[in-house]
Amino acid sequence: MSILRSYVAAFMPMDRIVVRYHEVALKKTNRVEFVALLTRNIVRMLEGTGVVDNHRAPGRIIFELPSTDRWPEVRSRLRRVFGVANFLLCEAVSGDIPELAETVAGAAEREHFHSFAIRTRRSDKTFHLASPEVSARIGEAVQRRTGKRVDLERPDLEIHIEILPRETLYSLEKVSGAGGLPTDASGNVLALLSGGIDSPVAAHRLMQRGCRVEMVHFHAVPYQSRAGLEKAVDLAEILGAWQHDSRLHAIAFGDVQKEIVAQAPRRARIVLYRRMMMRIAERLAASIGAQALVTGDSLGQVASQTLTNLATVQECCTLPVLRPLIGMDKDEITAYSRKIGAYETSIRPEEDCCQLYIPKHPSTRLQIGPARGAEEPLDIEGLVSRALETLETFAA
Ligand code: ATP
Ligand code: MG
Repeated sequence: MSILRSYVAAFMPMDRIVVRYHEVALKKTNRVEFVALLTRNIVRMLEGTGVVDNHRAPGRIIFELPSTDRWPEVRSRLRRVFGVANFLLCEAVSGDIPELAETVAGAAEREHFHSFAIRTRRSDKTFHLASPEVSARIGEAVQRRTGKRVDLERPDLEIHIEILPRETLYSLEKVSGAGGLPTDASGNVLALLSGGIDSPVAAHRLMQRGCRVEMVHFHAVPYQSRAGLEKAVDLAEILGAWQHDSRLHAIAFGDVQKEIVAQAPRRARIVLYRRMMMRIAERLAASIGAQALVTGDSLGQVASQTLTNLATVQECCTLPVLRPLIGMDKDEITAYSRKIGAYETSIRPEEDCCQLYIPKHPSTRLQIGPARGAEEPLDIEGLVSRALETLETFAA
């Protein structure tokens, strides 16, 4: 072991968090940007926990944890940082392999398990032993001290050894990360957030791909109570736990709906509501610098989501409309919604503005031509600008 390595381990605090990301897919310049964004996002997420950025190693960002008391809180926050493949709670060990082996064996003695495996990752390629040899030497010590058996396939206890250029660490706890790409790596999008199950999941999918997701909700206050809007705010807050500085934009849509009801054929209402939502959202997107709109449409799920109707809705805006759930079925979407903690809020029975004046038999195939025809009596520009005047923005 190098003098530097022992020196660092002896004088630095012992608890470390090693955050690992997937390096393979990253090209050199991308990697620099990726690591900078990821580090910034982790630091933001862990604000107030006392965790300090320590140093970098290949494929890893290493943090100092001031005290293990903070670990449960830190762990739950770190799980919500996109771009993290997994992370380890580690302790630094001074000295060389014999000391490492004894320290790890001592830690293992305090655990309850029947079988174990040592997983060594050596990101210091100049280290004098290869990973399998390190694993073997430590495994021997653990076996000798605990009497437990090695099981490389399905161990009860996995012990991770991280041989980094600056220090050697071991860990008994590895946690899966959120995966994907860091917030702000892929640009800004505007997600249309209803109070339902689907759209929060759609917003989350885009967040996971590195987009900063702003949200817009259309409500029917004062024609309906504020409860629907409050539900959307609650959903936005749930999503806000995954990205810092989230915003929900709320727009009063009831007057637009009244106008459509007064002027257009009953069966066309839903598609015309959607077309107006798209126009308003597109205008809002331009003002906040969003490059695409996101919806929770899933093909064939409801009358408004047939290919014909989706095309007719899409036609009135030029921004790309991203529909990450298009090929998913309700069960998959529901499972995802539960996983991100949105489901219980999504199923609250508050009304959605689309339930206002909804026809019993909405058109499932409203072509573009007839939709345009149905809109002829409407003052589209006036409706869009008056709707935008009602904009309220909430921090989420
Ligand atoms: P969700 O579960 O997301 O409400 P849904 O299955 O009820 O979806 P629709 O009501 O047809 O389907 O809505 C399709 C998409 O249109 C929604 O996923 C959402 O992106 C957008 N949308 C619908 N209503 C609103 C609204 N009131 N405010 C903002 N976006 C909306
Ligand atoms: Mg809905």
